[in-house]
Amino acid sequence: MQRFQYYIDGEFLEGEARFQSIDPATGDVWAEMPEAREADVDRAVDAAEKALYEGPWAKMTATQRGKLLYRLADLVAANARKLAELETLDTGKIIRETSAQVAYVADYYRYYAGIADKIEGSYLPIDKPDMDVWLRREPVGVVAMVVPWNSQLFLSAVKIGPALAAGCTMVVKASEDGPAPLLEFARLVHEAGFPAGVVNIITGFGPSCGAVLGRHPKVAHIAFTGGPETARHVIRNSAENLASTSLELGGKSPFIVFADADLESAANAQVAGIFAATGQSCVAGSRLIVEASVKDAFLSILKRKAEAIRIGSPLDMATEVGPLATKRQQDHVAALLEKSIASGARLITGGQKPDGVGYYFPPTILDCDGINSPSLAEEFFGPVLSIVSFESEAEALRLANDTRYGLASGVFTQNLTRAHRLMKGIRAGVVWVNTYRAVSPIAPFGGFGLSGHGREGGLAAALDYTRTKTIWLRTSDDPIPDPFVMR
Ligand code: NAD
Repeated sequence: MQRFQYYIDGEFLEGEARFQSIDPATGDVWAEMPEAREADVDRAVDAAEKALYEGPWAKMTATQRGKLLYRLADLVAANARKLAELETLDTGKIIRETSAQVAYVADYYRYYAGIADKIEGSYLPIDKPDMDVWLRREPVGVVAMVVPWNSQLFLSAVKIGPALAAGCTMVVKASEDGPAPLLEFARLVHEAGFPAGVVNIITGFGPSCGAVLGRHPKVAHIAFTGGPETARHVIRNSAENLASTSLELGGKSPFIVFADADLESAANAQVAGIFAATGQSCVAGSRLIVEASVKDAFLSILKRKAEAIRIGSPLDMATEVGPLATKRQQDHVAALLEKSIASGARLITGGQKPDGVGYYFPPTILDCDGINSPSLAEEFFGPVLSIVSFESEAEALRLANDTRYGLASGVFTQNLTRAHRLMKGIRAGVVWVNTYRAVSPIAPFGGFGLSGHGREGGLAAALDYTRTKTIWLRTSDDPIPDPFVMR
């Protein structure tokens, strides 16, 4: 059995306790993980604070920080295969996707390496003749980063990259479900030569580790990705330390198909949107909103594609849908599906948890036309698509916005003016037109409403890890005048 360690203050440690990690493809224990509790969280945050104010990191130029980030990017690229295999083993995400995603993670670090020395302050045209006033951009402080199980290397890169570019130090908490890839990534941070304490990577459970980290008095900002219910705990805990928060949460994203769309292409995008990553994707296009006149035609293409999907071992390059990450997740998907069918939703394909080992669930399609199905409102975070149809553009938009989430959306149409109307009307942080599930380090990403606040990606994300300091310098040699009048 493999044993992992976590990384605090430049050292690899066994942890206060240990827990077992399960291979979702077999249900067997395959590794032992270190578990951080209060003492190790304290140790990690102390190390991050020390690194922020003392030692080499505090004195480094932005260009030197960028060089370290470039080195890290190269190491991620060079070790992509190993990282991808660990992510696949520990979370069940298929190797076809983890290998492509980890290779792209290197580009995220490269992008933020380039940004490090482009974060500028400013000089203010102040309204007083004898004053020079500047804004300095300084790192926001020690950042707590908490990520969920899916795509941990990616979801941490969109936090670690900009935070390092901005000069912050951090404690990253890997999910207790599948922490192996992030714990291995810590070795690359070490090899890249970041000073001790700048990046600390631990894992542990929500209440005994994540919550302790989030409310720690030395934490200035919490960058969280996960579910809305956990986000509420994060916000409540931030009432203790008054840390700022950025929240990347779930979604119930609409995928709108008009009759004039290229149906074959839209169906491929819909498959990517709901069945890739076994549906465990925050941007899953889980509500198909299709024009009534092409509903049957589109459904038959989709059904054919869904039933042709190769389900199998996540380590096999040919596999297209692997297991869900945990038994808990498999039970959740099955229970929500049962509730939806009980409400009247009609099963078009899939739906049966297969016999045998592993936490598999087949690609599933539900027709929810005319039904108030829970599947239209609640997040499965699994491979289940719910379908409704519309007669008019106005109805399509109303259905798209009929959710408290607002992360992503897709619009498939050949009509340019309609596409423009919808991209303005949809209430979501991302609108994909005639494409779906495209991401880039250059493009900001984040949600509205229950999908959270704050943006990851792009230059703005690096600025979000800074705070401004206003410097006033008096340029007059005359004595300070009347001290009882504010100047
Ligand atoms: P989760 O909210 O249960 O857990 C996320 C992380 O929070 C884990 O590391 C967990 O240990 C930690 N945590 C739990 N309780 C905590 C507490 N009280 N304080 C601090 N941390 C705590 O999420 P999950 O079930 O692991 O992941 C699935 C959810 O994540 C889905 O809702 C999904 O949509 C969302 N997600 C969002 C994005 C995005 O970028 N918007 C990306 C991926 C996943």
